[in-house]
Amino acid sequence: MSTVQSTLQSPSPPSTSTTPGHPHTYNLMENYIPCIHPLCSEHYLLSSLSPTFYTTQKPYGLRHKRGLCPSHAYKDLKAANDACRREWESMRQNAGRKNLSVIASEHEAWICALDVQRSGEAAELEDRQKQRVLGWEDPTSPILSVSVAPLVALKTGGSEKSKPVLEQWDWRYMPRPCTRKGCKRNWYSPFSATLYQWYLQECKFGLTMLETLCPECTRADIEALVENIEKKKAIKEEEWEIWLEKVRKDREVERAFWEQAQSRVVKERGMRFKVVEEKKELELEGKGFEMLKELCVVM
Ligand SMILES: [Zn+2]
Ligand SMILES: [Zn+2]
Repeated sequence: MSTVQSTLQSPSPPSTSTTPGHPHTYNLMENYIPCIHPLCSEHYLLSSLSPTFYTTQKPYGLRHKRGLCPSHAYKDLKAANDACRREWESMRQNAGRKNLSVIASEHEAWICALDVQRSGEAAELEDRQKQRVLGWEDPTSPILSVSVAPLVALKTGGSEKSKPVLEQWDWRYMPRPCTRKGCKRNWYSPFSATLYQWYLQECKFGLTMLETLCPECTRADIEALVENIEKKKAIKEEEWEIWLEKVRKDREVERAFWEQAQSRVVKERGMRFKVVEEKKELELEGKGFEMLKELCVVM
């Protein structure tokens, strides 16, 4: 029923630990990031994907789109491959007097056009993912206070494309302070590579971790609560069930309240940012390089 007991004895080390004088860089994109599919709430780690995940795939040489969780990326590519196969059938049926090699080269050109179109869509999805996680192009984001303007100009400069969809910045991906009174531990993120699964686990009595508390405080909170619930078992079972249900509900209210508080602090105080120059290969056209500035949180 519960996996928390064993985990509690060996809690994951917080990923945001720092040594005084040695700033720790927390790169938001290297931790759990959201799928941009409108109906998906999955999060995934880029580092968990195979090294060939974004390279050309058999049989038509199309690629998985960035910005989508693995499951949606697979489904999307499968649909595109199916479309290629249907197009081939249709071309053959309507070929008239054309010979097979002519149809083959026409099909290849069709796939090429589809690849270009898909690459554009993938780039937009990835942009939206970064807007949501890093806050690019969002005027309410504190990140904008750090020279993001050149990046925006660079990305849109010279292009006549229609304006991309703007994604709302979600502060929750930023490191946040613990809400337990007196806790002075480092800011942490429930979306960090090492903590995400840990916060998601269900604990004894169907309790969930409060991600508004740092890992150490969450652990202490759950331990105390489980002990308290065990003690109360002495009362009538029916009453105990009702009481337990109330405890769970109260926790949800508590979580919502403290998340609001964390959101205010993160948005108002923000973090210090370090701009890192990084070269990114433009896979779409297979040529050239684009300079990207990655924003990392320096804690
Ligand atoms: Zn998804
Ligand atoms: Zn704490």
